[in-house]
Amino acid sequence: METTVCNLCGADDATEFAVVPDLLLDRPTVHARLVRCNQCGLVYQNPRPTPAEIGEHYPPSYEPYADPRAGRVGQLLRRAYAYGMAKRTRYVTQAVPQGGRLLDLGCATGTFLAAVRAHGGWQVEGVELIDEVAQAARARHNLKIFSGTLEDAAFPDDTFDAITLWDVLEHVHDPVATLTELHRILRPGGAVIIRVPNLGSWDAALFGKYWAGLDAPRHLTVYTRATLRQSLVQAGLRLEHFSTGIGSYVTFVLDVKFWMNAHAVAPQTKTRVSKILLNPASRLASAPLFYIPSALGMGPALVAVARKPRLA
Ligand SMILES: [Zn+2]
Repeated sequence: METTVCNLCGADDATEFAVVPDLLLDRPTVHARLVRCNQCGLVYQNPRPTPAEIGEHYPPSYEPYADPRAGRVGQLLRRAYAYGMAKRTRYVTQAVPQGGRLLDLGCATGTFLAAVRAHGGWQVEGVELIDEVAQAARARHNLKIFSGTLEDAAFPDDTFDAITLWDVLEHVHDPVATLTELHRILRPGGAVIIRVPNLGSWDAALFGKYWAGLDAPRHLTVYTRATLRQSLVQAGLRLEHFSTGIGSYVTFVLDVKFWMNAHAVAPQTKTRVSKILLNPASRLASAPLFYIPSALGMGPALVAVARKPRLA
């Protein structure tokens, strides 16, 4: 473990925000301590696992590394997944309609890269920290993927027209440095699209420390609009817009599961609730409930589209 200071303003002046167990992997003895910077409001883990230690919190069962087409994945989740990929692709094609070179940082299984390539107009590649995950993605989709960190990849200046980070920035140890490196390798006018959990969401307010977006101890930083905007500005990127309407239902299902696990809900009740939630009819019936917070900017995930300014 290591102690750290605020990634955004450099202050070492923070107040405890929450102590959160590892709910995703259901390890009640593993906790993360989140603090909020008294100077700028950034919420971050302190102390936190070092880069060398963090790997032990990503076992092979870690969900983003699982092949969504394999195993006993429910029809609803599978469809939600395909819908999510189409939505992600749309962010890219709207931000950079002419296409070009795209980098997906933390590309995991490569499903998104394959989806963008299939859409056409894009030359795609990825960076993935975990070598076995990168190898599997290369083999499955015949993709160009660098195994290692973004810094190790050492891309030349002004290389990419679009760079995407789907649920990645909250995992890195120095997000402002990562964004600064992305700024360097983006072409002037190129766009970066970043999705992070939204600490300003209604889910976060409702579920508190059981909110899936905290994902302790893997999430090292938890953003609001204000702190994400400031991080982008510090990296020299210009924010174009925020939106929050992506993946709401799947997050909600996780929130409920975590809450039930933490409150020792009877197994039969858990099974019954899960069955109801995973029923497509529930999804359909509750759609307006999820649409409203998203429209108000209070959805569980924040998507920022930012651009490297063109040279004057
Ligand atoms: Zn700060």
